Amino acid sequence: MIIGHTSFAFGTRTYVMGVINVTPDSFSGDGLGPDVEAAVAQGERFAAQGVDILDIGGESTRPGAEPVPVEEEIARVVPVIEQLAKRVRVPLSIDTYHAATARAALEAGAHLVNDITGLRGDPKMAAVVAQFDVPVVIMHIQGTPRTMQQNPTYEDVIADIRRYWEEGIDLAVRAGINPEKIIVDPGIGFGKTVGHNLEILRRLRELTALGRPILVGTSRKSFIGKVLDLPVDQRLEGTAASVALAIANGADLVRVHDIPAMIRVARMADAIVRGWKEPKRVYLGLGSNLGDRLTYLRQAVAALEAEPGIEVRRRSSVYETAPVGYAEQPDFLNAVVEIATSLSPRALLQVTQRIEQNLGRKRGGSRWGPRCIDLDLLLYEGVTVQEADLTLPHPRLTERAFVLVPLAEIAPDLPLPDGRTAQQAAKEEQTHADLRLQSQGPEW
Ligand code: ATP
Ligand code: CA
Ligand code: CA
Repeated sequence: MIIGHTSFAFGTRTYVMGVINVTPDSFSGDGLGPDVEAAVAQGERFAAQGVDILDIGGESTRPGAEPVPVEEEIARVVPVIEQLAKRVRVPLSIDTYHAATARAALEAGAHLVNDITGLRGDPKMAAVVAQFDVPVVIMHIQGTPRTMQQNPTYEDVIADIRRYWEEGIDLAVRAGINPEKIIVDPGIGFGKTVGHNLEILRRLRELTALGRPILVGTSRKSFIGKVLDLPVDQRLEGTAASVALAIANGADLVRVHDIPAMIRVARMADAIVRGWKEPKRVYLGLGSNLGDRLTYLRQAVAALEAEPGIEVRRRSSVYETAPVGYAEQPDFLNAVVEIATSLSPRALLQVTQRIEQNLGRKRGGSRWGPRCIDLDLLLYEGVTVQEADLTLPHPRLTERAFVLVPLAEIAPDLPLPDGRTAQQAAKEEQTHADLRLQSQGPEW
């Protein structure tokens, strides 16, 4: 499923949604009030800590909460979404059950609608989601936030949730929503007793039969407070236990307040439940000599960061250099990045070629000719490959100053295939190369 510019491979790992409450009265105690800057700063912090989605809400739906006028809700969330859309690459979710708020948020740059009423709270909601063709979360609720905890009763809470989801999916599809873009949420705490909430988590596996990705939101909720007899600011461990067991029982996405603690919980739970492969350290060379060269380098790094199996660990400065091969073309900008990846060398080559293509690189043309973006696999930890379409380490790595100098900057002691370290090789090859520092340091 594509959310924003990021592809979510549900089933391969658990994704983490971070809560941004632009409300004065949130139950979890993290309400940021009308302070746009504080909400944006929190979103940026979560993004830097590795969150997968930000969920922005302007109305508290804690039990007993009074509804907020739609205009007020829009005024709270839109400035935050506008800013975050500019400042982070993480997809943005709008947490609302009002169609007008969803529309305003989507126009401001949100990528997903998280509706606690499962498209039933506002008769216009499904049409808005269909029109913008974005993914949507259909959450189960009994009653309304104001009244839901008064006396929740079920014959079978799991059967009720399943039926509710199925009806919600029907409603969505009739409104023109692509069923492949639907995520479901059992709505922990929304019209449920402590016993119901615990039963949902215990029997969550039964709800995976629908085949849709499942979002679970347990973070800091009162059922944890009841079990542990602890106030809302002391529910971290209870949340961790519920997140781990939700993952064990089939959750695909968890909505949490405590980033990065819950990212660690999800990673650890994933390692147990879904298996674990040691990520490998890989160096990639980036080059561009057409168009806005620096923007191409930036976009390539952003695309790598957006890739689920890739984490960009370090980037070198950017250097400008005269072309190799044949000289009748513009100068290049070059940089090197270190990534950690669980992808195989071949899978990684596919990804880099897809990124080159998405950024508009034209194939064909002459060898070593001009290109808007070139991504080469330089070194893949512990691996040598000699095949028609893939050679590792890169065959011309040790003779190219424009690769060695940026490489030495981020990995001076890295041993090269010819026995030299990156630093030694960079020093020796640099003497007869024309290399100009274009942008110093990793910020570019
Ligand atoms: P050079 O590899 O000398 O820098 P280039 O980058 O201009 O040349 P491309 O036209 O981008 O070459 O790629 C030619 C082919 O090289 C690709 O289709 C790819 O399959 C193959 N290839 C082999 N080894 C590698 C590698 N380590 N990294 C990237 N591509 C590779
Ligand atoms: Ca190249
Ligand atoms: Ca290449």
